[in-house]
Amino acid sequence: LSKAGGRNCARLFDPNDPQSSDESENIAALLKIAIGQDLVSLVYQPIQNVASGRVEAVEALMRLKMLDGTSVPPSLFIPVAERTGAILALGRWAIRTVCAELLAQDHVRVVSVNVSPIQLKTPGFAASVATILSDTGVAGGRLAFEITEGLEMEIHSDILRCISDLKLLGIRIWLDDFGTGFAGLSWLRLIDFDTVKIDRSFLHDCGAPRGKAMLQDIIALVRNRGHKILVEGVETDEQMSLVRELGIDEVQGFYLGRPAPAARFRTRPAAHKRSLSLVKSA
Ligand code: C2E
Ligand code: MG
Ligand code: MG
Ligand code: MG
Repeated sequence: LSKAGGRNCARLFDPNDPQSSDESENIAALLKIAIGQDLVSLVYQPIQNVASGRVEAVEALMRLKMLDGTSVPPSLFIPVAERTGAILALGRWAIRTVCAELLAQDHVRVVSVNVSPIQLKTPGFAASVATILSDTGVAGGRLAFEITEGLEMEIHSDILRCISDLKLLGIRIWLDDFGTGFAGLSWLRLIDFDTVKIDRSFLHDCGAPRGKAMLQDIIALVRNRGHKILVEGVETDEQMSLVRELGIDEVQGFYLGRPAPAARFRTRPAAHKRSLSLVKSA
C-alpha cells in the first residue's frame, strides 16, 4: 500500500484481490482521458459564517464520470490520481476552472480548492498557479487551498517553501480534515494556516459520551493557536445549535447546502436564500 494512496485505498489496492487492482487500472485509464473527454467537473458547497449567516466561501469538489455516465466517488479516484500523478493535471485543471467558471464573476468571494501534498511537492506548482491567476485576472486572495494531513508523516521542506510562495500570491491555506491523519499536530506547528477544518467525525461523535468534550478540546487547541475554526458535516438542527454554542466561526454541511454546479452560485438563487433564512430563524 503506497503512502500516496490516501484514504480508502485498502480496498482498492488489496494485493490479494485481483478484482480490486483491475478497478484501479480502469480508473487510472479513465483519468488519462478525463479532461479531454469532459468526464471531470466541479461542484461547489457553501461555507457559512456562523455569526453573520452569510455564505462567505464555497468549496470546490471534483466529480468524475465513466464513459457510460456512472459517477466514480472521489474516495476511489483521488487516491488513484495521486498514485499515478494524474492529480497534477487534474489539480491544475480544477484551479483554472474555479477561476474561470466562478471567480470571474463577483458573486462568490472565496473558493477553496483541495490540493494534494503531491502537488505541493512538485517543483513549479506555485508558478503554475501564478500563471492561472494572471491568465484569468483573479486575485490570489479569492482562492484558498485545503490541505489534508492524510498519510504524510513528514513535512518536506519543499512543501513548506511551496506554501510560503502560495501565501505570497495571497492564497489562503487551510488545514482539511483536522484530527484524522497521522501528523495533524506537526502540520499545525509548522504551517500558519488561516483556517482549520475540523473533521466531521468529531461533530458526529457528539452524541456519544465524552464526544462533546473531545470536540471542545480540539476547538480550544485550534483557537489558542490563532486559527479560524470551521466545522464540517453539519447535517441537523441539533448540530447547528451545538456549533453556535461552541462559538465556531464557519460551518459547512448538508444542513446548509449540498455540493451543486457553479450555475447555482452565479446568481442568488431562491433555494439558496431559503436555506439561509431557515438557518437564521433556527
Ligand atoms: P473533503 O475535502 O473533506 O470534502 C468534504 C466531503 O464531505 C465532500 O465529499 C462532501 O460532499 C462531504 N460532505 C459535505 N457535507 C457533508 C455532510 O453534512 N455530511 C456528510 N456525510 N458529508 C458531507 P466528496 O465530494 O465525496 O469528497 C471527498 C474527498 O475527496 C474530499 O474531502 C477531498 O479530500 C477529496 N477531493 C474532492 N475533490 C478534490 C480535488 O479536487 N482535489 C483533491 N486533491 N482532492 C479532492
Ligand atoms: Mg476539503
Ligand atoms: Mg474536509
Ligand atoms: Mg474529507
